[in-house]
Formats: sequence, C-alpha cells, structure tokens
Amino acid sequence: MRVIHYPHPTLLRASKPLKRVDAELRKMVAEMFELMYENRGCGLAANQVDLPYRLFVMNMAGDPQQREEERVFINPVLSKHKGMAEAEEGCLSLPTLYAQVKRPERVTISGYDLAGQQINLNADGLFARIVQHEADHLDGVLIIDRLTPTGRMAVKELIEEFANEFQQRRQTGEIPADEQIAAHWKELEDLRC
Ligand code: ZN
Repeated sequence: MRVIHYPHPTLLRASKPLKRVDAELRKMVAEMFELMYENRGCGLAANQVDLPYRLFVMNMAGDPQQREEERVFINPVLSKHKGMAEAEEGCLSLPTLYAQVKRPERVTISGYDLAGQQINLNADGLFARIVQHEADHLDGVLIIDRLTPTGRMAVKELIEEFANEFQQRRQTGEIPADEQIAAHWKELEDLRC
C-alpha cells in the first residue's frame, strides 16, 4: 500500500459506497493508519491509497501514541454546514503544497464505523476541516479545486510539476494505463460495493 499523488485517476473519481466490511478491509484500514502516521498526516481517504471505497481514517492529533483519537468513517455523509472559516491545508496526495482553503466552520457527519455502528457527530474547528477535506477526496475533489483564482495561480507551477512527474512514472510503467486502473477499480468494487 502506498499513497498515490495527483493526478492519479483514482484521486479524481468519486468512490463507491461499501456494502460489506470484511477482515481484509479491516487490515487495509490498519495499514492506512500506519501509512498516515508515517507520512505525518492526520487524515487519509481510501482512494489516496488506490482503494475506490467511500471510507476515510483520521487522527486529529496525528499521533500514533494517541490511538483513542483514531476514527474510521465508512460511507460518510455531511450535512448541516454552517459558517465559514479559512485555514491552511496540505494533502498527502499533493506533497509540499499548502494553501488557504475556505470551508464551512461546522458540519454534521454521519456514517458507519468499522464495527458497523452508526455514527452521527457534530464537528467544528479542525475536526470539521479534516472530515470535509477527506469527504471531498471521496468525491474526487482536492484542495486545488477549492482555491480562489489567486490561490490557484500561486500553486500553478507545482501542479504542473505533479503532472510531469505523473507522466514520467507512466512512461516507466510504474503507474499502469487507465484501462488497467479501471479494471482494478472494478475488481475491488465487485468484492465490497
Ligand atoms: Zn488530502
């Protein structure tokens, strides 16, 4: 398992809801947490590790010592957006890129945890920002899609560099062709969606 970078197609596509959680998926979630900590992140969406499922993990403290902060959201739905706040965000799929992103200040998140229990939480502050960032991933939306025109200009060169790097990795065969990626999606979706 590895974190994929923009503009990998799995990041730009809406992920599918999960219909079943099995032991293998629970193992994937455990790996996602480890990968998130290794990369010093505080949230990671399944499609950032090339899994086309509506699922994300987070730990607001970003600290593997604080396991009690770990949360898993399966098929999350956001509602009751209120207020507006701006803060700097980064993304493990856009390494070295940081930008100011405006988002609602408060939001309600519902969904399921790994045990199949229903979750319904009111989030604000950093919690609200992380769940919105991660839920965006599941819809194929990245922070670069949420920038003001000025903000976008500021990161234009970096985005071009990501695109060039992606093309190079494609040429070396490190990243498969679109058809192979689509076949991989289908295989994984047939299992659990
Ligand atoms: Zn991200």
